[in-house]
Amino acid sequence: MPALAQIKPAQIQTLDSTLTILHQQAMFNGAVLVADHGKVLYKKTFGKANIATNEPLTTRSAFNLASVSKQFIAMMAMMLEKKGKLHYDDRVKQYLPAFPYETITIRHLLTHTSGLPEYFDLVLAHRNTLDTLTNTKLLQLLAEFKPKPNFEPGERWEYCNTGYILLASVIEKAANMPIETFFKQQITEPLGLKDTYIYTLEMQQSPAGRVFGFRRENGLEIPNDLMRFDGVVGDGNIYSSVDDLLKWDQALYTEKLVSAKTMKLAFTPVKLNNGTTQPYGFGWRIDSTGQVLSHTGGWVGFLNEIVRDTKKQQTTIILSSGTDGVARNCIKAILAGKKPEIPKLELISNIRLIDGTGSPARACSVRLRDNKVWETGALTAFPGETVTDGGGRVLAPGFIDSHSHHFGGLQDSPGGLALVSQGVTSIVIGQDGNSYPIDTIERILQKTPVAINVATYTGHTTLRETVMGEGDVLRIAKPEEVVQMQILMKAEMDKGSLGLATGLEYERAFYSNRSEVVDLAKTTAASGGRYISHIRSEDVSLDEAIDEIIQIGKEAKLPVQISHIKIAKRDRWGYAPTLLAQLENARASGVDITADCYPYDFWRSTLRVLFPNRDYTSPASAEFAVNQLFDPEKSPLLHYAPHPEYSDKTVLEVAAMRKETPAQTLMYLIAAASEFDEKHPDYQGNTEGIMGKSMDEPDLESFLAWPHTNICSDGSWGGHPRGYGAFTRVLGRYVRERKIISLESAVFKMTGLAAEHLGIGDRGIIAPGYHADLVLFDPATVQDHATIQQPDAISSGIEKVWVNGKLVFENQKTTGQFPGFFIKRK
Ligand SMILES: [Zn+2]
Repeated sequence: MPALAQIKPAQIQTLDSTLTILHQQAMFNGAVLVADHGKVLYKKTFGKANIATNEPLTTRSAFNLASVSKQFIAMMAMMLEKKGKLHYDDRVKQYLPAFPYETITIRHLLTHTSGLPEYFDLVLAHRNTLDTLTNTKLLQLLAEFKPKPNFEPGERWEYCNTGYILLASVIEKAANMPIETFFKQQITEPLGLKDTYIYTLEMQQSPAGRVFGFRRENGLEIPNDLMRFDGVVGDGNIYSSVDDLLKWDQALYTEKLVSAKTMKLAFTPVKLNNGTTQPYGFGWRIDSTGQVLSHTGGWVGFLNEIVRDTKKQQTTIILSSGTDGVARNCIKAILAGKKPEIPKLELISNIRLIDGTGSPARACSVRLRDNKVWETGALTAFPGETVTDGGGRVLAPGFIDSHSHHFGGLQDSPGGLALVSQGVTSIVIGQDGNSYPIDTIERILQKTPVAINVATYTGHTTLRETVMGEGDVLRIAKPEEVVQMQILMKAEMDKGSLGLATGLEYERAFYSNRSEVVDLAKTTAASGGRYISHIRSEDVSLDEAIDEIIQIGKEAKLPVQISHIKIAKRDRWGYAPTLLAQLENARASGVDITADCYPYDFWRSTLRVLFPNRDYTSPASAEFAVNQLFDPEKSPLLHYAPHPEYSDKTVLEVAAMRKETPAQTLMYLIAAASEFDEKHPDYQGNTEGIMGKSMDEPDLESFLAWPHTNICSDGSWGGHPRGYGAFTRVLGRYVRERKIISLESAVFKMTGLAAEHLGIGDRGIIAPGYHADLVLFDPATVQDHATIQQPDAISSGIEKVWVNGKLVFENQKTTGQFPGFFIKRK
């Protein structure tokens, strides 16, 4: 009595419903057959044989089997061996005298142990694109160029299409007739395979029922069938149907073609020269139990698989065109008793797409598939698909903040409200020289998943502190310390750091010299990383600082980026065009220098930065600060612990209260803060802080408009309004109101250009295969509302935000989903 069928009816039902969904949602076009002891449990076709004629598939439609063809080629070799026409250990050269390798045998070809290189590269290198490849031409190419084998025959196992083409040529020679004739006489006619044939160039017309390959691209079906390699036979190019393949499968349990003993060889793992075995026989893959035999076949337009469980006598045949691997994975999961992973689709329709490349907006739809963008274009909804109506708004890639200080606050606000409410979906941290080790970041993100993606640079100051000691960084690093820093840098690069970030204006890095930075930058460059810098001065020594970053780019040969580019010195206001010309010159000389910029003319820091020489009691320096480094009338104290009543007052207002000049007041404020610090060593938070108005809007506008500037916030949770409003401020004030840049250009600067500047691969653009980080916004109303007085006011006009295909922001609120990734350097 035969064993009972082990596939349950419920599994077949799931199989059918899954394939139905996959077909309805354009993820499957093909034929599936499941049999038990030759009895069909499931047999069904979905879709078209020919996209040009709409001819439907039937179970007799013949698909290009691609590599599933190899089992037929191997069978012909076995039949010739049985007839004494060849021997497995015969040298190939005996049959093909032009073959330039002495020791390769037929067995090596059958088992992928010949060491022959794949033929694709050889053909591309030596034959023009209009030349159709045939078996004879391939042999000529091998004879002419004799490409170096990948290994000695029998030393290793390496899947090899070249070998099976040669095998087909050997078969023709041994059988003394065209292979298609031998195939017909010996296999298809005896077994009654009516839909199975070898495709050859000589065929005047395609046999009826031939399936034509296609692919789906942005909602369209595009022909994707035989190409110029397809004059060859052996590695593929046998066509067959599911009906025929079941007959073939059943014949392999009998002795209709060869004896059981011969058949067994096809199912025996190949033994290498060193005695180990590899799970491949003659044209079949063999699983670890030795009982499940299978082969896949993928070639332009086609994706197939046959699986034969010889113990349970169950057979699964999947033939498809215009399909990716998902149906195959689902079928195998279902038959193994597991839940299939059907991709989740979402169609976002009725939008103006600004794709992040700088291209003009266009009306279309975008389809997401799990966490990626699947397609864009004129798309219609599939049955059962989630549809989001974009209401005619702009859909853009989620914004990438190339200079963010938000990471610390994400632990308390994993929804990332400050960021997603302005459309930001990825932040880049590790800026101004301070970073966490990547292991730490990944651990933090694992413990508290967040809504947005995070990438990091490796901080120069952090490397100094680690190697030189936290208390000993106000000096030049010793050569051996630089070597230690380089080792740490390399390790972080290997873990996916974007590159080296410095904060040379800050005390803890200020004492480094240029050669230390260049050495670290060279290590970074060797790993394909980049350099980003809060340069050594943004005011009194701006020229030297710009020169330094250009030199670093030149000497270390890596892309360099100026963080939050600005001119913070009054007598240099209006100098932005000159500075940009200097940067353009550097670019023309081969230095890939770029910048990021936040859209405000005031910074936030400590009062002490107003004394670049750190001479806080010098009346002359105070006078210089008041005249050149900030505007006392427009610069409020954020908070001031020694005199809380001064908080939120401008320096000019405080001076009036104190009946002093602003310079006198400035000196007093620093002295009183120092005294306060000494008396209150345990005081939590900053003693003082100032919002320094020190830039000029025309300069800012020049910087924003420079083609090599991307947008950043330099923000965090509160304090400076840029933490909540930088990106929406660009869209509202500088695009809509002041028309400094076009909407498409602004989006490019927030997305595609930022990704390019950072070395981030598959984000920043809306195109098939890119991660689905998206923002839907209304360009007519988008606006920042964060101010110095209310730095955490939320922007308007940002309607929905997705990160990795999940909705994270809607109706001015975070959604409680935390799909953020840690992004590594591409
Ligand atoms: Zn900075």
